Amino acid sequence: MADQLTLDTARAWVEGFAARIHAAADELTALDSAIGDADHGSNMTRGMSAVSAALDGSQTDIGSLLKKVGMTIVSSVGGASGPLYGTFFLRVGTTAGDKTALEPAEFAAALRSGLEGLKARGKATTGEKTMLDALAPALDALDAELSDGGSLSDSLATAATAAAQGRDATVPMVATKGRASYLGERSAGHCDPGATSMALLVDAAATAVSA
Ligand code: ADP
Ligand code: MG
Repeated sequence: MADQLTLDTARAWVEGFAARIHAAADELTALDSAIGDADHGSNMTRGMSAVSAALDGSQTDIGSLLKKVGMTIVSSVGGASGPLYGTFFLRVGTTAGDKTALEPAEFAAALRSGLEGLKARGKATTGEKTMLDALAPALDALDAELSDGGSLSDSLATAATAAAQGRDATVPMVATKGRASYLGERSAGHCDPGATSMALLVDAAATAVSA
């Protein structure tokens, strides 16, 4: 097995994320009904259905594929999560460029540029009870294991565990960004919906690369 992100595994990552979103739609909606407006499940399923329809095989490099994903999400999802996930994929795709395979460090760098884009778009940082609280620790874990000589698939599996822990760590947090921030202290005690969907994104990457 090649220890890279290939065009095929990038496509499998996106499709795996879509499948996880569809399976978790009701859970995402329930989480968003507790601290938001109960549309995170429908926002994400609408976006990922549009993505699946848009990926028609005409994207022949990783950058084109992931930029198409990002543009499709931006244009199909109205909620906060649309521009945020859209920006993430656009940045990852832009950094990936016209390659058909990324070495582990190249994929990690592309993911990190996505994280930086997401932070800038949302004017947010970690600890604010958002999707960043799943993504940032995941990428820190990914970088750490890769620099210790870990394989991409093992390092992504560790990153997926870190993302799930980061998701769970949003429960006691008080939201200071997005709709949940309107609740102030009452946002504590609930898991963040965006961190929950983001943990699915990292899990999908780990599965796609290890397949
Ligand atoms: P909306 O909040 O417009 O209803 P969604 O329900 O689809 O959109 O998405 C909500 C999720 O978006 C939150 O759970 C949170 O993780 C994320 N989010 C909201 N605002 C920000 C922000 N400024 N930066 C990062 N993530 C954010
Ligand atoms: Mg919402």
